Amino acid sequence: MSKGINATIWNEYRHEKMNEKAASIYPQGMHTVIAEGLKVKGNITLATLDEPEHGLTEEVLNNTDVLIWWGHIAHGEVQDEIVERVYQRVLKGMGLIVLHSGHFSKIFKKLMGTSCDLKWREVGEKERIWVVNPGHPITEGIGEYVVLPEEEMYGEHFDIPQPDELVMVSWFEGGEVFRSGCCYTRGMGKIFYFRPGHETYPTYYNPQVRKIISNAVKWAAPIEREYPRYGNAQPLESMEDKSQ
Ligand code: ZN
Repeated sequence: MSKGINATIWNEYRHEKMNEKAASIYPQGMHTVIAEGLKVKGNITLATLDEPEHGLTEEVLNNTDVLIWWGHIAHGEVQDEIVERVYQRVLKGMGLIVLHSGHFSKIFKKLMGTSCDLKWREVGEKERIWVVNPGHPITEGIGEYVVLPEEEMYGEHFDIPQPDELVMVSWFEGGEVFRSGCCYTRGMGKIFYFRPGHETYPTYYNPQVRKIISNAVKWAAPIEREYPRYGNAQPLESMEDKSQ
């Protein structure tokens, strides 16, 4: 495909303004660092919660092939109208990459239909993300595992529907495990949930994490295809035989 991918990176962008540690790691916001690490041919648009329509106008979304979502403390401030707009775009084929605490975002919960709850602990422990589906395009160029020296722990049970494809599983120093790379389709849209990325650790500078997100954007990009036709349909074949 010669056409590039239009990726939009949406960030709540609150921790980086309130928390000293988050601000020191991500002075211009996590979205800018995620953008810097995105090695995909095409255009990148940045959007944040406090912009009008959260930066996700009809025009922006209609021109987005893949939307990346990071949110945490302000999920409730995301307007339902915008959530519905994103939801409809996913059903029509827009890819969605949900990062870390985005597991509790309105859009992810709406698409999953479950509580999306999990265990968590924030002590800066080691995480080892194991590739469990080595033939999957999202794992291209990634070795057996990725080690993050310090991360927040997310543990099972993670209340999600059974992933269509489970690509990665995390192990944590404290003993928990977690399904950290999960693929879904909803309508014509592809969805990838990727676990790491707590705001007080430099996770989005990690070259392998960046590679995984870039691979996921390529995987989730829509294919060229018309929206299916639904409803009453005329027969495609002659039905004369039926009356004989
Ligand atoms: Zn977190």
